[in-house]
Amino acid sequence: MANANMNCWPLIVIGGSSERNQETMGAFQEFPQVEACRLYSKFSARPTSIEGIPSVIEKAVRISIYGRPGACYVDIPADFVTVQVNVNSIKYKECCMPPPVTMAEASAVCLAASVIRSAKQPLLVIGKGAAYAHAEENIRKLVEQCKLPFLPTPMGKGVVPDNHANCVSAARSRALQFADVIVLFGARLNWILHFGLPPRYQPDVKFIQIDICAEELGNNVKPAVTLLGDINAVAKQLLEQFDKIPWQYPPESKWWKRLREKMKSNEAASKELASKISLPMNYYTVFYHVQEQLPKDCFLVSEGANTMDIGRTMLQNYLPRHRLDAGTFGTMGVGLGFAIAAALVAKDRSPGQRVICVEGDSAFGFSGMEMETICRYNLPIIVLVVNNNGVYQGFDADTWKEIVKFQDPVTVAPPMCLLPNSHYEQVMTAFGGKGYFVQTPEELQKSLKQTLEDTTKPSLINIMIEPQSTRKAQGLAATSLPLISEET
Ligand code: ADP
Repeated sequence: MANANMNCWPLIVIGGSSERNQETMGAFQEFPQVEACRLYSKFSARPTSIEGIPSVIEKAVRISIYGRPGACYVDIPADFVTVQVNVNSIKYKECCMPPPVTMAEASAVCLAASVIRSAKQPLLVIGKGAAYAHAEENIRKLVEQCKLPFLPTPMGKGVVPDNHANCVSAARSRALQFADVIVLFGARLNWILHFGLPPRYQPDVKFIQIDICAEELGNNVKPAVTLLGDINAVAKQLLEQFDKIPWQYPPESKWWKRLREKMKSNEAASKELASKISLPMNYYTVFYHVQEQLPKDCFLVSEGANTMDIGRTMLQNYLPRHRLDAGTFGTMGVGLGFAIAAALVAKDRSPGQRVICVEGDSAFGFSGMEMETICRYNLPIIVLVVNNNGVYQGFDADTWKEIVKFQDPVTVAPPMCLLPNSHYEQVMTAFGGKGYFVQTPEELQKSLKQTLEDTTKPSLINIMIEPQSTRKAQGLAATSLPLISEET
């Protein structure tokens, strides 16, 4: 619930609880669940009678989707199961209307458009709020019509495809650090966006914040303009401004040039790492080969530390709402559950659409027994475990052997190390799925091809990588780097 609430996801949890008439007597599993859930939800309640259930459920559904979406808890005491009521005494409530669409104030939209027009180094940040709002069409129009650079957040990926010419993900740090006007489409200025503060941003950067939640506006920074409303509706309002008085950000500006240069050098550095032929493989080599075979319409689920971070930069999303990861709360252990949910959706709506779940070995450990669930439902999920024998880093098998031989591993090995060469693929085969243990790019390519061809069975590819492999150096430019003063 906390994870859903933090990510602004509509979720309804219905929980059983101890009997009403045994309260305070020390009933089986007696606990103040309604109070406990308040911290993790927008609404938490227990109907006082069977007759009260419909209105509580209607309220939970409504609150979970109106305004900023979130989690709701409904508590059902055990004695409800046996209580008998006259069916005519139940008043069923009709489901609520879809959430009302809110639009930003016209004068604020005008002001936002004029701030964008006057930007020397503009940037659009596309957050997951834009994905929830189904704003892909209008945001894409805005990007293309005004020729603006954009940057998706981890789960904002795919609202406008990652391979779009205006996507500056490969120059993320530079784009954030030197933009003078940043339009936030449903993205909070939290840790994911470095709180909107220097040195990751210019001290005088102008933020234009678009959000459905008024309380969010002004968090951590004083925005130049706030647009309170549904992102799709507000994106449309902005488009109308640029239709009325057409405007384009010059594609040959120095800002674009600087962004393109940085993208080129960063992409070249990733490519160089990806082309390394030494074994064990590094992250970049692995993700390069995965990206080569990734179906464009797949659901991509990912969790882990380096696995998730590096994977995000290498694996492309082309469709909105097709990436799920550890999210705002950085919650590990959710990936396999997300993959199961995504596979059930795919099975229902578009059979054949694949779910690829990219897990670090440590993240996999949180809920690895979901392999049983995946096999029980026979969901053709492809689980990739990028295995470095540890959390962040581990030991190679030979060093581990030495540790075990001469010293006590419990006291000597750092607690972040996991057992080297663990055969996670056998967790999958134990339940009837397919398992692969791969150590080379060729084995990886071959196993990926086979798993993608087989749409009938779940599979797990355990990919061994260099235990000390890490992400490429990330350097922030000196903050004194002058801003581009004049753009033509
Ligand atoms: P990210 O992790 O992608 O940066 P966040 O979860 O921080 O995104 O922010 C998402 C924001 O989107 C939240 O502040 C939420 O209130 C907002 N939001 C959610 N749905 C909508 C919507 N339909 N219209 C406008 N804002 C929305």
